[in-house]
Amino acid sequence: MSSEPKIIIAIDGYSSSGKSTMARRLASEIGYRYIDSGAMYRAVTLWAMRHGMVAQGVDPDVDAIVAALPDISIDFLVDGNSQSTTLNGEIVETDIRTLEVSNCVSPVAAIPQVRHALVRMQQAMGEKKGIVMDGRDIGTVVFPDAEMKVFCDASAERRAERRYKELVEKGAGVTFEEVLDNVRTRDHIDETRAEGPLRCADDAVRLDNSSMTIDEQNSWLLDLYRSRISSLG
Ligand code: C5P
Repeated sequence: MSSEPKIIIAIDGYSSSGKSTMARRLASEIGYRYIDSGAMYRAVTLWAMRHGMVAQGVDPDVDAIVAALPDISIDFLVDGNSQSTTLNGEIVETDIRTLEVSNCVSPVAAIPQVRHALVRMQQAMGEKKGIVMDGRDIGTVVFPDAEMKVFCDASAERRAERRYKELVEKGAGVTFEEVLDNVRTRDHIDETRAEGPLRCADDAVRLDNSSMTIDEQNSWLLDLYRSRISSLG
């Protein structure tokens, strides 16, 4: 693989569309760095929640969050195949995945200055290429020139089912309706915000994975990667 050209792979799509699972797997198979950009928005949101700047059902205090951005440092701790998000040095991988954070993240992610700061960090991470990044605006804003772009979709019910199962497995006391409501609300906020809205890039390959298994998705993605690499010569 080492003689192959390194590229940027952008995987965007709706909440809980399975993009992180397939992005992470592809990165590990081809020896690329994987970046979950959603984790970065979640980490900023967790910080703002802990400082009383946003809460469920309460609009974010935009000025306070923007003023605090220089104090928020986000990184990823890599250990073999697993990766943990850190917030000012603290591992917050579990804390950022709760339904409470999911319910506050999209309004925080709609703040233009938050997006600008995180997009800059993401672009720096991709400077040397050899990266798979998933999110909402990776193929449109962060890396508009990415050599490979995928846009994932599945029905809201199917996505909520997956997310609900994951949360229940982690012991969270949530109902399916709460998760479905969160998925729909986030879709709406992500699609309608002014800055970096969720949309499929013109040159992205669309994937509806509603009825695909994880293995089927992974091999579909690996095939697409191989064909992209061979087309680059
Ligand atoms: O990918 P995940 O569902 O963890 O992302 C959490 C939230 O972060 C999304 O609902 C969206 O509001 C925001 N996000 C974003 N842009 C990205 C990645 C995530 O706005 N590139």
